[in-house]
Formats: sequence, C-alpha cells, structure tokens
Amino acid sequence: MSKLNAVALFLVSLSLSGPDPGGAGLQAGQQPPQPSSSAAKYDLLLKGGHVIDARNRISAVRDVAIAGGKIAAVAPKIDPREAVKTVDASDLYVTPGLVDIHGHTYTGTGERRSYAGDNSVYPDGFTLRVGVTTVADAGCAGWRNFEDFKQRVIDRSKTRILAFLNIVGNGMRGGTYEQDLADMEAKPTADMARKYPGLIVGIKTAHFAGPEWAPVERAVEAGTLANVPVMVDFGSNRAERPLSELVTRKLRPGDIYTHVYSGLRGEQDPSGHVNPALIEGRKRGVIYDVGHGGGSFLWRIAVPAMKEGFAPDSISTDLHIGSMNAGMKDMLNVMDKFLAMGMSLDDVIARSTWNPAREIRQDGLGHLSVGAVADIAVLRVERGRFGLVDMNGARMDSTERLVCELTVRDGKVVYDLNGISRPDWRTLPAGYGPTGDVRWDGLNPAPVRR
Ligand SMILES: [Zn+2]
Repeated sequence: MSKLNAVALFLVSLSLSGPDPGGAGLQAGQQPPQPSSSAAKYDLLLKGGHVIDARNRISAVRDVAIAGGKIAAVAPKIDPREAVKTVDASDLYVTPGLVDIHGHTYTGTGERRSYAGDNSVYPDGFTLRVGVTTVADAGCAGWRNFEDFKQRVIDRSKTRILAFLNIVGNGMRGGTYEQDLADMEAKPTADMARKYPGLIVGIKTAHFAGPEWAPVERAVEAGTLANVPVMVDFGSNRAERPLSELVTRKLRPGDIYTHVYSGLRGEQDPSGHVNPALIEGRKRGVIYDVGHGGGSFLWRIAVPAMKEGFAPDSISTDLHIGSMNAGMKDMLNVMDKFLAMGMSLDDVIARSTWNPAREIRQDGLGHLSVGAVADIAVLRVERGRFGLVDMNGARMDSTERLVCELTVRDGKVVYDLNGISRPDWRTLPAGYGPTGDVRWDGLNPAPVRR
C-alpha cells in the first residue's frame, strides 16, 4: 500500500468529503462522466489534447491515461468511464514534463553572492507553473557540499532535481573557490557521482578565468571515471584555450557546451557566421545547450545562427536570481524565443523534453511511453502581440507564446492555472470540502471513498 493510500484510509474515517461531480472545465460543453468507483482502471485521463512526444514520434490528437503514477495508455479514444478523473485537453498540447538541464537551485545556506546560496532559487515556484517537472542543477555543488544540497533542496522539492556535480569540490561558491585549481579533483568528484547514480547525471566546469585547461581536463576525467557527460560553461575567453580546441578535441562525444548563443567566447566568427569549429564539434557528437541565464543569450548571435540552421540540441534556462526576472524569465519564455525564430512547436518540445533527457542519460524521462513516469505538461499556444527580451535588453516582437495550463508530476496534478481539473463551485454541496482525490490530485486531495 502506498503511503498516500494509507493516509487516505486513516483520513476517511475522520472526514466527510463531498462528492466529486466531475471537473467542469473552462470550455463550454458537456463534461465526461466521472466515476467515483475505486475500481476505475485509470486515475487520470487527459482527453483530446494534441500530444507531442518526440521519442515516440507522435504529434497528433491522443488521449493519455495515467494509473499508479505511470502512463497507462495513449490512444485516439479512451473511455472516460474508465478513469477516476477526466480533464478536457482539447485545443491544448499534451507533452512530456519539461526537462530543464541548466538551473541553479542550491539555496538556503545563507551564503551571499554564491550559487551554493543566495544566487540560487528554490525550484518549485519556478518550475511546475511552467510545465517543468525535472531540473538538472548545473554545478552549484561539488563533492564537498553535494550531500548538503541533497538534504536541503533535492530531497524536499516536488520538482525532480538532478545534478551536474561541479569539478570544484566547494561548488559554485564564487570568487576564489571557483578559481582554485587545487580544489578541482577528478577522483573525489567521480566517487561522489558514483555514489548517487541517476541523481548526479554529469560533471560541470564553470566560470574559470585562468589560461589553464585543467578544469576542463579534470571534469572530463571525472566524467570518464563516473561514466557521465560533462557540461562546460567556458568561463572567460582566453587565447590560450580557444573554443575551437574545446569542441574539436577536449570534449568527448555527448559532452555538453552550454551558453551556445552568448557570443562571449567566439561562438560567432567575425564575419557573423557560426564558428565552424562548433559545427565540426557537432559532427563529433558534442552537444549544444542554450543556458539563457542573465548573460548568455543574444538575438544578434541566435538569429543568424538559427538562419544558418545551427539549432540547439537542448533548450534550458540557467535559472537563478539574476535571470528569473530579466530577459530570461522561465522555461516557456526561452522556448517562445525559438518559436519566434521559426522553430516548429514539435522541434521546440523535443528540445525541451526528450533531447535533454537523453543528454543526461535519463531515458525514462522526457516521453509518454506506456510504463513511463507520468510527468506531463499541458500547454496552450496563446496568440497576440508579445515581446521577448535577450540578455542585453534587446526585444524581438512575437505573435505567440506558450502558457502552462496543467502540470502532472508522478501522475498527480501539481499545477492547474485555470482549474481545468476542478469542479465549478456552484455544482458542489453547501459546505463543500476538498474536491480532489489522492489518486490524481497532488494539491489538496480529499480521501479516497470506499
Ligand atoms: Zn548556470
């Protein structure tokens, strides 16, 4: 018996819950019947949405049924009588929960001007409301403080937090810590990564200002020992260690170059074209990630690159306190930017779900295969007049943007912008209590009735 069911059995004797007459969505029209039987085959059914699932090559209207926290069925028609809860997803897009492989979430330590402190954010207020169900923290912690990060944030977040472990033992604590070559040790870094397989999904090197290759070389060494990819923020641009050598020699296939549209390290050559070394690196299997952040995305770099066909492998935010309210804002805003540059919605979703999941070798995430964990984003494409802002405050006008209507994590609704999973209050009995059900409601469920 699950912990939730045990809690529910206990609560059912204490609480009188009103009936759930079925969610009356915002859309007009008849709501499907909502059986209250505990014998229902599915816990939650998302009906009539346009499913985009890159791994399974689906971009079509499908019903998606969930049971026991897993995807139970994806089919053109699933009978709502088989589900405890049905949500009308027509005119919406149903995608795997978004996977953001560049965030900064190691906060709560009280350390100022540090990504192992105040520069990071608690993830749940920035993720679930934009459809992100998985974040890979981009190297805030190293082997010395990873376990503090784990108990402080990872273990307490609703968002699934994975981590790139910094090659610096002290992690991203700023200033002298991140320049200390003596604290960049492959062995203890790899040992910590091997202690938490599937949680530590890569090694990060970042912010290095010196002329040495040692941070990259030791990160690659740790990545090789632990059999995980390396993500590189290439720090200061130094003639002694050019970008071309990084992507054509130093990085292994599958290693990730982030901040690819920053223009800070020669990503664009002086003639305005994509640095040919990046293209050569891509042929070798080097991965390019967006990592927008507060200082790593420029229209004058991204637009010409996209026109030349140099699209990113993965779209990511580089969320932190310096980006959260600036040009970047959130994952959907970064995705909107690629829509505005002409990328198809299917391609944008692939680069925000299945591609990043594969990059961090989490093949169980980023798709809606039967049996996969039921992490789902339900998105709306809103049309109007919008503006999208880069790191230097330059705007591009746009005509569409993504809005997250509903987020499902482990089969439970954890965010519902317009209450499309909720009943109209006027249909409820006087003095109604919680209207959800623990089988699908991750917010405020009533106990299971038996
Ligand atoms: Zn970052």
